[in-house]
Amino acid sequence: MERDIFELRAQDGAGRIGELTVPRAGVTVETPALLPVVNPHVITVEPSRLQSEFGAEILITNSYILYKSDEFREEALDDGLHELLDFDGAIMTDSGSFQLAEYGEISVTTEEILQFQHDVGSDIGTPVDIPTPPDVDREQAEEELATTQERLELAETVDVGDMLVNAPVQGSTYPDLREAAGKHAYGTTLDVFPVGAVVPLMNEYRYGDMVDMVAGAKRGLGADAPVHLFGAGHPMMFALAVAMGCDLFDSAAYALYARDDRYLTVRGTEQLDDLEYFPCSCPICANNTPDEIRQLGDREREEQLAEHNLHVTYEEIRTIKQAIRSGNLLELVENRARAHPAMLDGYRALVEHSDQLERADPASKGTFFYLSSESAYRPEVVRHHERLSRLNPDGRVLLTEGNPSSRYDESWNVVPPFGPFPRALSETYPLTAEVPDRMDTDAFEMAARGVVRLVEENPETEFTLAHRGWPESAVKLIPESVHLVDLDDV
Ligand SMILES: [Zn+2]
Repeated sequence: MERDIFELRAQDGAGRIGELTVPRAGVTVETPALLPVVNPHVITVEPSRLQSEFGAEILITNSYILYKSDEFREEALDDGLHELLDFDGAIMTDSGSFQLAEYGEISVTTEEILQFQHDVGSDIGTPVDIPTPPDVDREQAEEELATTQERLELAETVDVGDMLVNAPVQGSTYPDLREAAGKHAYGTTLDVFPVGAVVPLMNEYRYGDMVDMVAGAKRGLGADAPVHLFGAGHPMMFALAVAMGCDLFDSAAYALYARDDRYLTVRGTEQLDDLEYFPCSCPICANNTPDEIRQLGDREREEQLAEHNLHVTYEEIRTIKQAIRSGNLLELVENRARAHPAMLDGYRALVEHSDQLERADPASKGTFFYLSSESAYRPEVVRHHERLSRLNPDGRVLLTEGNPSSRYDESWNVVPPFGPFPRALSETYPLTAEVPDRMDTDAFEMAARGVVRLVEENPETEFTLAHRGWPESAVKLIPESVHLVDLDDV
């Protein structure tokens, strides 16, 4: 089925800049996008200011709270959500699944809540799915996924006009269930695909598991599926999630953290009490010291912190978009991964999915920067090795880190982490990479694996590898048929 509401404009890794057309709102939202969570009972920053001062094109509010609200239910039905919240961008509504997960039951069905969302003028509605938590036994994960899938099929039958509808992807911590759930959801007529119930993983800093769950869901979904990482609002992990192919994020964190005097940064969370300086130049941080903010009353302090939290969150979204345009999103992810060991786990899990990322990654982009041992496993290296298995040099071939030699039929360059390549390719991406002089073992081992790929594909060719003091762990990967010269010994 052709999906024409989401168009990709630029890609890097599995990350992309896209345009999500939201017909009921009459707006197009550029992704990756942040949806601030707005609770009509507790407005921290007015939605009209979210739009004018922070550039919010879309927000999310909980329709179940409105549905149960004596205060707002009738007003929402009479005047509509856009009027109630004073926001003319796109509005997504959640269904109460979160309340279901928290309190065990809710008093509304998928048909009732979708109809209500339609009637209050929501632009993107959500059925009542079952957010299965991590680590449940497989039987429970399968049973609850089956229920979620019934709800999605039911949602297809509700007449909601041109309101888009979310198709949540569940499956607990089973990557194969996430993949099956993605495939099923993509097969429905529904529109946007939230990867659900990952909040407990975030709260426990299980970024590696989060990456595996998103990778599973993405395998089941088509490339043209807009993907929402549901409940993920901390800017420190946005770059990682975007590189996996997530397009939408919602943030309740900006307000919830502010309530507890917590200050968001792209490197993690700080307590206001621990700060002597603000490491930020947003209007709040430029015009106040931490001491001045501490002296404010509760309400005002919360508002100021919430505004900083929003500024830093939107700034990170813009940083990510520019990185995609510049072709250095993976360098940004690598940088963010250094903020916390759990983030490093997330990045290491990401490069374990390099073959999956490689399929979406552009063939040419900005210069490849080798920044850590994890760089050795990036999708560009995986792609180069695949290319090597299609190349067929003949006769006696020198693979060298040094100068070419006329004593051979061909002389190829060798550059860690890529391995060998014909000299004619040396000015092409990614072989123009900037690498440090002090290379790590992983890079030499990956280069050796490149040699192995080439040798295995060309059993008739006689190879000599001239390297500069490669470590034993790399040298021992080279097949016995290859003549070895250590240039450092010559
Ligand atoms: Zn700030």
